[in-house]
Amino acid sequence: MIKRVIARVQTLFKRKPKRAGREPKRIPAAEHSINRELVSRSALRVCESLQKAGHRAYIVGGAVRDLLLDIAPKDFDIATDATPEQIKSHFRRAFIIGRRFKLVHVMFGQETIEVSTFRALVNVDRLIDEHGRVLSDNLYGEQNEDSARRDFTINALYYDPTTGEVLDYHEGVKDLRARRLRMIGDPAERYREDPVRMLRAVRFAAKLGFAIDEATREPIHRMADLIENVPAARLFDEMLKLLTSGHAVACITRLRAEGLHHGLLPLLDVILEQPAGERFVMLALSRTDERVRAGKSISPGFLFATLLWNDVLVKWNARLANDENRIPALNLAIDETIDAQTEKLAIQRRFVADMREIWGLQPRFERRTGRSPLRLVEHLRFRAGYDFLLLRSAADEMPVALGDWWTRFVQASPEEREQLIVEAASEKGSTPVAGVGTGTRRRRRRRGRTGDGAASGASSE
Ligand code: ATP
Ligand code: MG
Repeated sequence: MIKRVIARVQTLFKRKPKRAGREPKRIPAAEHSINRELVSRSALRVCESLQKAGHRAYIVGGAVRDLLLDIAPKDFDIATDATPEQIKSHFRRAFIIGRRFKLVHVMFGQETIEVSTFRALVNVDRLIDEHGRVLSDNLYGEQNEDSARRDFTINALYYDPTTGEVLDYHEGVKDLRARRLRMIGDPAERYREDPVRMLRAVRFAAKLGFAIDEATREPIHRMADLIENVPAARLFDEMLKLLTSGHAVACITRLRAEGLHHGLLPLLDVILEQPAGERFVMLALSRTDERVRAGKSISPGFLFATLLWNDVLVKWNARLANDENRIPALNLAIDETIDAQTEKLAIQRRFVADMREIWGLQPRFERRTGRSPLRLVEHLRFRAGYDFLLLRSAADEMPVALGDWWTRFVQASPEEREQLIVEAASEKGSTPVAGVGTGTRRRRRRRGRTGDGAASGASSE
């Protein structure tokens, strides 16, 4: 009870000064270089319709930041003084989403424009009683309050596509020009409110090549552990954004510099601290970055399979050292890895299924006799397993010759495939033997002797 009273008093104190109304800096079209060609037509339509109905409506957030940097935004968010119900009434395909704070998704073909009502500065939790009843209708606020709730100054700019004006409440344009990431308000307090902002700081700095302002950067290393309190599903979403940003290598390098990798995937720190594991992970991430930048799709299952592979290897090796059978040992190692991760990071079930298959297929690439390769190549997940194998050989974990053989096999005619199988059979040691952990460098020198060490490498160097 007392807590609630204190919370309400705090709320009142917090709101008053902001309500007093800060005027934004207004930057006319002539003073910035937003290329209107980069603005989505759907976003323009949403703004125009709302404005015609007498509301204010602006493109906001990452899209404005990117437009000012002459980067094509990947999606468009709009902020308005219209309520969700009013917003919805103006569009044919519009859906109200969210329970506590409602937003509207306006759909145009494949594109979704997220439209939200200016938010008040108060914390939603304080306005809802223990039965979930909304105690106040002040969830919605003024534009300056909306801007103060946002994370970084460069993410708090509003662009009116009709007038071409940019509204800037927090010197965001100045920071953008100085290529600096600066938190709005007191950084430590903002990280305590939402620790994900630390990950966002790292992601934006890496993506944009910006410096993190000292006051914004300083609390991160001491507050990094707060990330442990973030719900697993949200952490997963954020990790996925980071890893698929096209700048994953830069992000991971930076996370490490900030001491944040410990709080992320529970084992990412362990992986990165093992030189062989790091080589594999970094190679995987730089390939992912290349794909993203070339506009190609990437598979989260594959990506997480690469991140956690070293952990599977370590566990598999430990079991093999215990004289367990090779394949059951691998399956148990996979279970252990998945269990340890999903507790912390809610990797979605469909991605987990992909990971299991990619890992489970690996020993089958070493069996190149009889019908095995012909059956494997028909497997639904062959392509992902094969790509994973190529990555392992590029990372020096498997013999390059094995990857090459499969590449030839994939491209070969049925007759050539028979011939390749005969060739493989004539190579010494082409049947796998249990036992993991022979140094890969040694094996690489003996090109062609592929099946002698199973899943060696990353864990043994
Ligand atoms: P991108 O979409 O390129 O990753 P973005 O800045 O658009 O970057 P979103 O997650 O789409 O990021 O969020 C849109 C906007 O919402 C942000 O620009 C920011 O203003 C605000 N925002 C998002 N997450 C937070 C947060 N955790 N705390 C405060 N504001 C946030
Ligand atoms: Mg965005």
